[in-house]
Amino acid sequence: MLKNLCFHSHNNFCDGKNSIDEMIQSAVNMNVTHFGISSHAPLKFINKWSMNHDDLQKYSDEIDNAKLKFGNKIQIYKSLEIDYIEDLSYPFEYFKKKIGLDYTIGSIHLVLNKENKKLWFIDGNIEECHQNFKNVFDSNIYKAITSYYSQIRKMIKTQKPDIIGHIDKIVMNTANVFFNENENWYLDEINKTLDVVKKHGCIMEVNARGLYKNKWNTSFPSPTILSIANSKNIPIIITTDAHHTSEIIAKYDETAIIAKSAGYKHQTIYDNYSWKEIKL
Ligand SMILES: [Zn+2]
Ligand SMILES: [Zn+2]
Repeated sequence: MLKNLCFHSHNNFCDGKNSIDEMIQSAVNMNVTHFGISSHAPLKFINKWSMNHDDLQKYSDEIDNAKLKFGNKIQIYKSLEIDYIEDLSYPFEYFKKKIGLDYTIGSIHLVLNKENKKLWFIDGNIEECHQNFKNVFDSNIYKAITSYYSQIRKMIKTQKPDIIGHIDKIVMNTANVFFNENENWYLDEINKTLDVVKKHGCIMEVNARGLYKNKWNTSFPSPTILSIANSKNIPIIITTDAHHTSEIIAKYDETAIIAKSAGYKHQTIYDNYSWKEIKL
């Protein structure tokens, strides 16, 4: 049975709008039973959206305190949404050792062009994203997208995240503008990447954020990717990627329905500190 769950959330340690306590209090008010806190992990360079390295301990302490304060009302988990960029990100193991994470979400927001060493930010404002794409990848969409998926595969192989965040978010600012998602080369990349997800036993996130922010017309990933993933028996987890108290369960049920329509009958959640399959 579907419960109110939130395993991917942000707060004011990164680019989220509310404090950790405000997020949890709102989740309790909405009868959310499980709440995972997953700020953007620090990178080795300053940027607008991820946590400062110096705040890691404070982040961890606030979550530990919240577990004591709210633990009888809701299951609270300590996580991070961690980027992977060769040489520019910390190893996932580093954060696990430093603050003791319950699980990790691995996501790519910055795509490295290995030739010129420049980074392309795939999220955010569409005009800036397109300008940045021109500068970094010289408008070569094939190269940009294959670099993105190859970076995801390398992240899975080397960092072993528990959850793969919004695996096809790259389509948000590029598909139907520079390419089509049903082109063979694109589907080949997807197949190759899903095989790596399966081989390493990762859980694939089904993320509602594009839907409730009106930035995309379906979940990340798309129904097409979901049905390929289902045929490969890849487990999924439904998330909202909330950055505000109003987003904690936004479009959660709709996103679960997308996964169901693609053939999924279950999702895998973190319950009492272990992964468990529940009905969708
Ligand atoms: Zn993300
Ligand atoms: Zn996120």
